[in-house]
Amino acid sequence: MNRYDVVVVGAGSAGCVLAARLSEDRSTSVLLLEAGPPDDALEVRLPASFYQLFRTERDWDLTTDPQPELAGRRLAWPRGRTLGGSSSINAMIYMRGAPVDYDGWGIPGWTWADLFPYFLRAEDNARGRSEWHAVGGPLRVEDLRRRHALTEAFLASAAAAGHAANPDFNGAAQDGVGPFQVTQRRGRRWSAADAYLRPALRRPNLTVLTDAQVRRVLVSGGRATGVAYGREGREHTVQAGEVVLAAGAVHSPQLLMLSGIGPGAHLRELGIEVLADLPVGEGLQDHPCVPVSWFLRPGVPDLRDDETPANVLRWLAGRRGPLASNVAEAGGFLRTRDGLPAPDVQLMSMPAVVADHGRALLPAGVTIAPTVVDVHSRGRLTLRSADPRWKPAIDAGYYTDPRDLDAAAAGVRAVQEIAASGPFKDLLDRPYGPAGLADPRRTVREATETLYHPVGTCAIGPVLDPELRVHGIAGLRVADAGAMPTVPRGNTNAPTIALAERAADLLRGRTAARPTTGVQA
Ligand SMILES: Cc1cc2nc3c(=O)[nH]c(=O)nc-3n(C[C@H](O)[C@H](O)[C@H](O)COP(=O)(O)OP(=O)(O)OC[C@H]3O[C@@H](n4cnc5c(N)ncnc54)[C@H](O)[C@@H]3O)c2cc1C
Repeated sequence: MNRYDVVVVGAGSAGCVLAARLSEDRSTSVLLLEAGPPDDALEVRLPASFYQLFRTERDWDLTTDPQPELAGRRLAWPRGRTLGGSSSINAMIYMRGAPVDYDGWGIPGWTWADLFPYFLRAEDNARGRSEWHAVGGPLRVEDLRRRHALTEAFLASAAAAGHAANPDFNGAAQDGVGPFQVTQRRGRRWSAADAYLRPALRRPNLTVLTDAQVRRVLVSGGRATGVAYGREGREHTVQAGEVVLAAGAVHSPQLLMLSGIGPGAHLRELGIEVLADLPVGEGLQDHPCVPVSWFLRPGVPDLRDDETPANVLRWLAGRRGPLASNVAEAGGFLRTRDGLPAPDVQLMSMPAVVADHGRALLPAGVTIAPTVVDVHSRGRLTLRSADPRWKPAIDAGYYTDPRDLDAAAAGVRAVQEIAASGPFKDLLDRPYGPAGLADPRRTVREATETLYHPVGTCAIGPVLDPELRVHGIAGLRVADAGAMPTVPRGNTNAPTIALAERAADLLRGRTAARPTTGVQA
């Protein structure tokens, strides 16, 4: 078959939702094209091993340009490259963000009240149905089966430092400290491919191709007519009634630009014919995260000490034991100054030293990572080449707005207080890292890494209309994290899934019911 009603590009968090929801209507033929291999690796399923997927064939293994505000460092940017996309390599934290995030977009159809029903439609929360939560949706959300002793120590130390307990960051308010809920089913990762795609695979109207990298959108007379993709060493083309890009916040803008849709001057420099002059790539935002680590007093074990063959067997036998951990087991939200409408810093607590995205082998330790979640800085994504095999250039723009640096430094001070309080006072040894912790702003510049949450590169508004259609090109939408105008306060998997749920309704011409619960005062 060489023509489909809808071709979805990218089988990540959004693409799996779209393919599954659109193929519910058996009269709609859907093709889902994924550049990466299938998701049949143990490290995808086994929660604590996700970082072992970095720099493998299931990671796009991207790197930013040197970041001037980070002492010129280039940061590693892992992105999932397999069925499930980044939801197959992520840390599984289930977080929706704050209502002010979506209301702040100011876009009809994308307010919190509009999106809340889609968070609920997606959700199957092990805690049961409540004002804030739903059961029966595809995305399983659970509490961790077990928390590391150092996570309990973090929670007690944060309480001793004056942080209120918050048992549910997706409830009435984000503020406070507590354990995260995770996208797992009975102790194994529950990616968007598990949640949405696998149950739909038997449908005759859904075709999924892996190892199929889309190279450009085919456009004729101002209308997208299909895509060209590479597979098994050859270029193929396929026709589509509608093309939906869900290749993520890095690759959807890359594909638009390769297809002649982007900043005109930039495309002309690379010899690409300009079909629509749009600020693609220009609204990039990400969450900067400052992993602050301490070594432990001699004899105190961390999660790395649990990485044993016996514990792998224990997990294989019953999905139990320490390796069911998502590593970032607990955290919290705080406001670093008065007058904010919602928290501006998220904390992530990890029972290990996290350096080089968990890949560096170091003595036992603890990490508390303050992350700026009310981000003011913007970066820019551009092409290095008109050749689709080249990785795009990423200027993440971290801390180019000084308010973000102030918030990050205040976050570092907050985690220093936690480390000096409660049980941590007796467990922690010296701080890890080149800067020590004497100068929080220096720590921020020397330690900041991505929290893996890029958005805004194909934003609703400048690039897309409120129905996610690319301005000026018919039959072409973008429906992934790149469509978010700003990054929400929290991890971006659940927001991307909610966005894709709504995108599927837009494609099907449906509108959702209004929520009857869960509206914040
Ligand atoms: C290491 C890591 C940890 C994270 N931790 C968390 C967390 O704990 N909680 C949370 O909520 N969020 C987390 N995130 C973020 C979250 O997973 C992402 O925001 C979300 O998955 C983005 O969804 P997406 O659909 O926009 O893109 P993706 O899920 O990245 O999907 C894009 C898909 O498109 C494919 N693709 C790209 N280019 C092409 C092409 N040319 N042709 C065909 N296919 C293509 C990719 O291979 C990929 O499968 C994390 C992300 C990472 C990388």
